[in-house]
Amino acid sequence: MESFQTAYAHNPDRIVTPRTAGEVAAAVRHATERDLPIGVHATGHGLSVPLDSGVLIDTSHLDDLRIDPETRIARVGAGVRAGALLRAAAAHGLAPLTGSSPSVSVVGYLLGSGLGLLARRYGYAADRVRALELVTADGAQRRLVPGDALFGAVLGTVGNFGVVTAVELELLPVTAIYGGQLVFDAEHTEPVLDAWRAWAATTPDTVTSSAGLLTYPDLDQLPPLLRGRSAVILRFAVDGTEAEGERLVAPLRAVGTPVADDLRVMPYAESGSIHREPPEPHGYAATNALLSHFDAAAQRALLDATGPEVVVDIRQLGGALREPGESGAAIDFRAAEFLVRVITAADGRGRVPALDAVRAALAPVTVGHQLGFLYGAADAAGEAQTRAGFTPATYARLAALKAEYDPAARFRATRAIVPAH
Ligand SMILES: Cc1cc2nc3c(=O)[nH]c(=O)nc-3n(C[C@H](O)[C@H](O)[C@H](O)COP(=O)(O)OP(=O)(O)OC[C@H]3O[C@@H](n4cnc5c(N)ncnc54)[C@H](O)[C@@H]3O)c2cc1C
Repeated sequence: MESFQTAYAHNPDRIVTPRTAGEVAAAVRHATERDLPIGVHATGHGLSVPLDSGVLIDTSHLDDLRIDPETRIARVGAGVRAGALLRAAAAHGLAPLTGSSPSVSVVGYLLGSGLGLLARRYGYAADRVRALELVTADGAQRRLVPGDALFGAVLGTVGNFGVVTAVELELLPVTAIYGGQLVFDAEHTEPVLDAWRAWAATTPDTVTSSAGLLTYPDLDQLPPLLRGRSAVILRFAVDGTEAEGERLVAPLRAVGTPVADDLRVMPYAESGSIHREPPEPHGYAATNALLSHFDAAAQRALLDATGPEVVVDIRQLGGALREPGESGAAIDFRAAEFLVRVITAADGRGRVPALDAVRAALAPVTVGHQLGFLYGAADAAGEAQTRAGFTPATYARLAALKAEYDPAARFRATRAIVPAH
């Protein structure tokens, strides 16, 4: 079984690769009858807490994908990757609310909330889920729809309530966007971030943007201007015309001379190119913080706590993300204005000091975090970390549902909710 994550690995007694929901249910019953823990692996992008025994369900062969262009609903199996859904939807002039990476599984992405490239315009992708097919710890196959208590609990809790075998997801009539990157040398980091923060406070919801800090590896496949360079990168996705996009980004283009500028109108199916995330499997750990606001003091604290050993990704939130959708998804802190993600190379052992330092630096403006952006560093995992992903009221609701549907915490190879016994 191939995994995108190479520093952390599941270590189960048995791996099963089901082709149907019935086979998933049989595997879950097998584990439950023997009192074994159960893990789920689609691509390994978001590998969180490795399984140390028990049964690992590899969902990669649950790859059924169907689109109904009339209702604009896609039925997506648990093994389908975002890139495959992007291409299939584009054939009907439609778009899913995908995120920065085309290689994550659609279902894993939705279970972590689904913070997409057009998030400020259309909200969290999890709020566009219309039905879920779930195998719970008792081996039952359930079809859940908005309004069912378990439906919302599954979205945002990354595998705590069972194995999702398929989702039905709303698609949008988006065919093209204006987007891409502006790359500046790292010596301009402060003026670029200052300008971006001021700009972000005034932009319409049609634009969703992010800022990245990274040092490019010295690789032949990169353009010579980028190889080995430390950079600050602004990325944009605008649901609008080229003229609108050009007008919106003009003040940021004027901050300095970018070393790269690939802003353009692109088919939505190519939107996975905006972030240019590394396609090769590697070893990493990551944390994140949802910020009430990102002012000059928070920016200073973040820059002081980070260096070339980490990749920083600061996502602009707000807009439609503020609206609770009808899904009842377990997504809190919707008033947060920014999400800071920090990713660093990891060897799979112990805590990761670079991540602890960023969390401490941002603590004064942190309101919570998202479980879907916590990778590896399982030594930091525990109930306190899971709780911090939710308001106390939401966590209490989730813990009660966990006691009802997974009382033995069979699904604990994730940032685990503790059943409220
Ligand atoms: C490079 C990169 C870019 C990303 N960009 C974004 C982004 O823009 N927006 C965003 O919201 N997220 C983003 N993510 C986060 C990503 O969406 C999550 O990590 C997601 O959980 C990955 O899902 P996966 O199934 O591909 O990975 P896996 O590691 O296979 O699974 C991740 C977690 O989900 C659980 N899981 C997966 N499938 C199922 C299932 N069928 N049933 C039950 N549990 C399941 C697994 O048990 C595991 O805990 C990004 C991640 C990476 C590495």
